[in-house]
Amino acid sequence: MQCPTARLCAVPPALTVKPRLFRHLLLTLVLLALVLGCGYAGYRLSERIGLRALAENGERQLELNARAVESEITKYNYLPSLLELNDDVRRLLQTPSHYRRQRVNDFLEGLNRRSGSLATYVLDTSGRVLATSNWRTPSSYLGEDLSFRAYFQDAVQGKPGRFYGIGSTTGEPGYYLAHGLRQGERIIGVAVVKVRLDALERRWQRARLEAYVSDENGIIILASSPARRLKAVHPLGPNTRERLARSLQYHWWALEELQPLARTPLGDGIEQVSYAAPGDTGQAAGPINYLEQSRPLADTPWRLTLLTPLRDQRRAAISYALLGAGACMLLIVLGLALNQRRKVIATRLAAREALQQANNELERKIAERTADLSASNQRLKAEIHERRQTEAHLRQTQDELVQAGKLAVIGQMSTSIAHELNQPLAALRTLSGNSVRYLQRGELEVAGSNLQTIGELVDRMGKITASLRAFARRGGDSGQASLNTAVEAALMLLQPRLQRSPAQIEHDYADARLGIDQTRLEQILVNLIGNALDAMGEQADRRLWLSGVAEADCYRLEVRDNGPGIAPELRSHLFEPFFTTKPGEQGLGLGLTLSASLAAAAGGSLGVRHPAEGGTAFVLSLALLAPAPAPESSHA
Ligand code: ADP
Repeated sequence: MQCPTARLCAVPPALTVKPRLFRHLLLTLVLLALVLGCGYAGYRLSERIGLRALAENGERQLELNARAVESEITKYNYLPSLLELNDDVRRLLQTPSHYRRQRVNDFLEGLNRRSGSLATYVLDTSGRVLATSNWRTPSSYLGEDLSFRAYFQDAVQGKPGRFYGIGSTTGEPGYYLAHGLRQGERIIGVAVVKVRLDALERRWQRARLEAYVSDENGIIILASSPARRLKAVHPLGPNTRERLARSLQYHWWALEELQPLARTPLGDGIEQVSYAAPGDTGQAAGPINYLEQSRPLADTPWRLTLLTPLRDQRRAAISYALLGAGACMLLIVLGLALNQRRKVIATRLAAREALQQANNELERKIAERTADLSASNQRLKAEIHERRQTEAHLRQTQDELVQAGKLAVIGQMSTSIAHELNQPLAALRTLSGNSVRYLQRGELEVAGSNLQTIGELVDRMGKITASLRAFARRGGDSGQASLNTAVEAALMLLQPRLQRSPAQIEHDYADARLGIDQTRLEQILVNLIGNALDAMGEQADRRLWLSGVAEADCYRLEVRDNGPGIAPELRSHLFEPFFTTKPGEQGLGLGLTLSASLAAAAGGSLGVRHPAEGGTAFVLSLALLAPAPAPESSHA
């Protein structure tokens, strides 16, 4: 079987649907990816901005706290060097004695109290404590050999001794500041001040700050969280461990490592680190991310490190991610709605345009059709005008023909009319001559009788000429005619011929008023009766029937004769102009044509019937204007 189009054949129905489904699926996936992308972008952007803000804030915090730490550790710097100015201390170092020691002990005790330090003490160059502020306490340093302490070793060499450590006697952590006491160029002893820095830790805790200070060995000496205290921020080699153990700097602490689970450098000395969070049971409960910023502290080999939790920033980033995704989704929905609206508007516009086009097309067709119609109308008007002119011309021609026909009839009848008139004229001449003679003789009665006859003859002649004049008169298309009058006038005109060749005329009609001009009806009857008389010729039995029937508003008059009838081959030519079978100048062949056109002009018709019993019957149908009285039958 042939397919209607190759395109429909090539693509099965199922496949025509699939690309659309596929497109929708693809679009959904793309939009989903867009939403996720927006969410991710929001997250990353918020994270970056948040990190930058945190870093800036952290930088400020770091700077502030570093200054605070620096001022805290430098405010005692001058203290050990002050002892150089004290004579009692100098004398004790030069020549120790119980009395001098006691004086210096008291002095150091007072000084220590006022400065708020942990302990203040003086060592000789061998590292033995000669006097100390805590001489009264059981954990007094008095007499202890502290030559192993790094701060002593530095100070005795003339270098400032700075040291954070845990006291070997008290087990108390503190910051040791040592100063070599000079006598001229020679160092005669070492003055040491031990201060506590835990005020800083408390301040950090109050401010909910997570920070720590690591010393030159990478050991956290100060921390806002006690858990971080005395932990190594980087791995310690075995040598370092041994050295530290020997110096007892951190007493017997294990110095565990505080290593982050992950470390991501973010540039500019900033790192993101994650530490395992301590759980309720002391076990790790999951990592906590921090922004780690650190800077060295002035005049010390120490570093201050600030840890800013990223928890809130992460939450904010997630919120922004959701916000981004939501905004993207909103935009997509808005876009889809706008697209849908655009489609609807486009469809409406297309429909309106199509409607407009259809309208324009319709208007164009209407205009074309109107132009055609008006052209046809013009043509019709012209045709009507032409037809009217032709009709008028025809009518005029017809009138002239009718007139010519009448004149022809009159011409035909002229011989018999002349004969008809000659007879009374001859009689008149004779009667008038006789009357004169009778008058001369005085036979008045006879003369009177003659004159009466003369009057009758004149009347008769007047009637003949009157009917001729009436017949010759022009008629109109409209008018009324009396059937009786018309028949009488027609028979009057044909009287001479009827006298010559009598015929039995049977009247079987009632008088009626018919819708035709009187003379025209007379002319039709003269033609029909005349033709019947001609057809019957000189046959012995000449009969003529005039019968009328009224049918509603129509009247049918039949003129029938018992002549020879009309040969079948001639019947179709009867109403043709100039068709005649009459010899010589007897026939013009216009009688029936004119009679038919006169009947038609009056709204009627003229037809012919060929009765089976012989003869010919012409049927004249005309409008009946007045109802006819009851039919009467008579013979002529
Ligand atoms: P015309 O009388 O001048 O011949 P008509 O038109 O009156 O012209 O008649 C045409 C012809 O029709 C006549 O010549 C005649 O042959 C035929 N015709 C008319 N009436 C009759 C009739 N009653 N019987 C037989 N023939 C007739």
